[in-house]
Amino acid sequence: DRLISGTAKEREEQFDRAIRPLSLEEYIGQPVVRDQMGLFMQAARQRNEALDHTLIFGPPGLGKTTLANIIATEMGVSLKSTSGPVLERAGDLAALLTNLNEGDVLFIDEIHRLPPVVEEVLYPAMEDFQLDIMIGEGPAARSIKLDLPPFTLVGATTRAGMLTNPLRDRFGIVQRLEFYSHGDLSRIVERAAGILGMPIDPEGAFEIARRSRGTPRIANRLLRRVRDFAQVRGTGEISRAIADQALNMLDVDELGLDHQDRRLLLTMMEKFDGGPVGLDNLAAAISEERHTIEDVLEPYLIQQGYIMRTPRGRVVTRHAWLHFGLPVPRDQNQ
Ligand code: ADP
Repeated sequence: DRLISGTAKEREEQFDRAIRPLSLEEYIGQPVVRDQMGLFMQAARQRNEALDHTLIFGPPGLGKTTLANIIATEMGVSLKSTSGPVLERAGDLAALLTNLNEGDVLFIDEIHRLPPVVEEVLYPAMEDFQLDIMIGEGPAARSIKLDLPPFTLVGATTRAGMLTNPLRDRFGIVQRLEFYSHGDLSRIVERAAGILGMPIDPEGAFEIARRSRGTPRIANRLLRRVRDFAQVRGTGEISRAIADQALNMLDVDELGLDHQDRRLLLTMMEKFDGGPVGLDNLAAAISEERHTIEDVLEPYLIQQGYIMRTPRGRVVTRHAWLHFGLPVPRDQNQ
């Protein structure tokens, strides 16, 4: 199991509930998103309208679900939550839509994985608040039209490029979450530690922050593991030295890369001479799924400048060779 994987595990959920920000005020970082969403929500509230449909994209663990919940809370409405792969048939979506009250938020995670038949039901629902669905089969089949109350669809996706154009065009608001700065992640760690009563000093928080791949979920997860270490091997207090020892023990390196990141980069260097290598070849070489590489592993490595995407495939940069102390190949100019 990957310690710094982007997705939440069940055991984590209780911890998550305690520290999840509930208002825009508590949502740390992402200044552009916060400003814009604050303004759009205020305007919609003043007009007594449902907020425009909102698409949020960004790698796992950056705060998409949290933001969707904050939207519902700040708009004073309920949130119903589902995800693309769960909605298999048109009727699954119809059942959800007909249960919404005026202004409610319908949150669809992994919206790029909606089956086409379900997506088609979504178009008139988003555009005209109309449910238009066929029931039954053969000669008995009938089409039903229903008016829906105005609602806000909040869609989350790890990759905007995976959305069909007609779906994308129906979102009035599109927000992209960025990886968090070390400063913002430090505040997130200090806030979580404060809520949970863990003693931590600012350098300890910073050490965890800078090794969290720019991702709040990972920062919170590392904080829990460092707390264990501090309790057993130290006095309970999380200092820089304790955080450093704990993270080394957890195989999270100086730059926050874990064994899977390193395996990906080393495979590219050792087996493919640094690339270019196609995604499928790479996936096979490290026995990882294509979409895990694209959604979870690669975005941070690209953002940090270890990997580049080129038309001929992925290439490791000079930066990566240097990080591993390997000689940079001659033709490597990047
Ligand atoms: P996603 O839906 O993008 O995978 P989540 O919304 O589930 O990510 O966020 C993961 C965890 O990170 C949340 O439980 C929350 O505690 C924390 N988190 C995310 N964004 C923020 C933020 N801006 N400020 C503070 N904590 C955050």
